[in-house]
Amino acid sequence: MSPADFAKIQQQENSYRKHEEHEPEDLRQAAEQLDHTCPEEMAEIGDKIANATPEEIASMRTRVDTQMTYELNTAQMLKNQMGELAADKHVKYIISIEKKKDSFESMVMEHLRMNGAYWGLTTLDLLGKLDAVDKEEVISWLMQCQHESGGFAGNIGHDPHILYTLSAVQVLALFDKLDVLDIDKVSNYISGLQNEDGSFSGDIWGEVDTRFSYIAICCLSILHRLDKMDVDKAVNYIISCKNLDGGFGCTPGGESHAGQIFCCVAALAITGALHHVDKDLLGWWLCERQVKSGGLNGRPEKLPDVCYSWWVLSSLIMIDRVHWISKEKLVKYILDCQDLENGGISDRPDDAVDIFHTYFGVAGLSLLEYPGLKAIDPSYALPDDVVNRIFFGK
Ligand SMILES: [Zn+2]
Repeated sequence: MSPADFAKIQQQENSYRKHEEHEPEDLRQAAEQLDHTCPEEMAEIGDKIANATPEEIASMRTRVDTQMTYELNTAQMLKNQMGELAADKHVKYIISIEKKKDSFESMVMEHLRMNGAYWGLTTLDLLGKLDAVDKEEVISWLMQCQHESGGFAGNIGHDPHILYTLSAVQVLALFDKLDVLDIDKVSNYISGLQNEDGSFSGDIWGEVDTRFSYIAICCLSILHRLDKMDVDKAVNYIISCKNLDGGFGCTPGGESHAGQIFCCVAALAITGALHHVDKDLLGWWLCERQVKSGGLNGRPEKLPDVCYSWWVLSSLIMIDRVHWISKEKLVKYILDCQDLENGGISDRPDDAVDIFHTYFGVAGLSLLEYPGLKAIDPSYALPDDVVNRIFFGK
């Protein structure tokens, strides 16, 4: 081995040592480099070993040891950084909410229990534990929430609204029980909420919002009744809510907001009208939602929140720009928001958990392809296998 070669090895060794003081990003890059040693380099190393003196072999061994230690440390550090999803705890948390009907959270949730059922049951399904609940009991309660009009209420004895109607349809889809519905009655209720300009009202009181356009489109699509509404007008209304920043608001001229963007992009995706989205411009606005901690916010200058993992991520996936954010950092942020003792996920680390953020956290991790979770469809917000069953009968 020439003195120049030896110096090179020493230099490499020093640079490996230096990595111990480096930031996680540098370490990750270095680990990737180590992974890409090409066959020519390997042959060269083999030649060197064949012609080496015992001293040189000892030196090489030291170098390999250093390298191995470094790689093992990096792997361990990355693993620690990633944390783990406390799946069993989250299952227990969701089931316990259902049982604690007198708790504060249940009282707050009373009028929107239908949404709570959708959030909780979809989370259980993503975790592969939907069979932990009594399907017949849920369906019997759910059907008592339906009104004469065909719409569903948030709970028994409350008024119907398009929001709860979609949740009811989604829950029945999860259980493969859409056949208990009078499909025409439900779809007439929804199509009856479309206004002359193509927009949708949420209920008979008439509030208009692009959220309701998404709900109507998603719901009628699941029921195979999109022909009951004026799809062209609905799409034109959504496009009229598009802003110069590429985002969408709740009505024409309304400020862009990640939740609204999800609704509009998903509605356009379902109706095959995604060509109306300026993907680069919107992708840029969406990826700027990632803050230093790895979490995502819903608008500029706002705090990150786990629920935006869903709205921003699903939109980025639908417009094919999800590689513009750091997935690893977002996984870490969501995992940091878990209650590791009692289960559940909160909006931000150390806040109180709730069923809404537990759903959006797990759904976000599913979009991020976190191991052990079922895949979720970014536009229908239902597990992929449920969507496939609805549209392909399998
Ligand atoms: Zn939130």
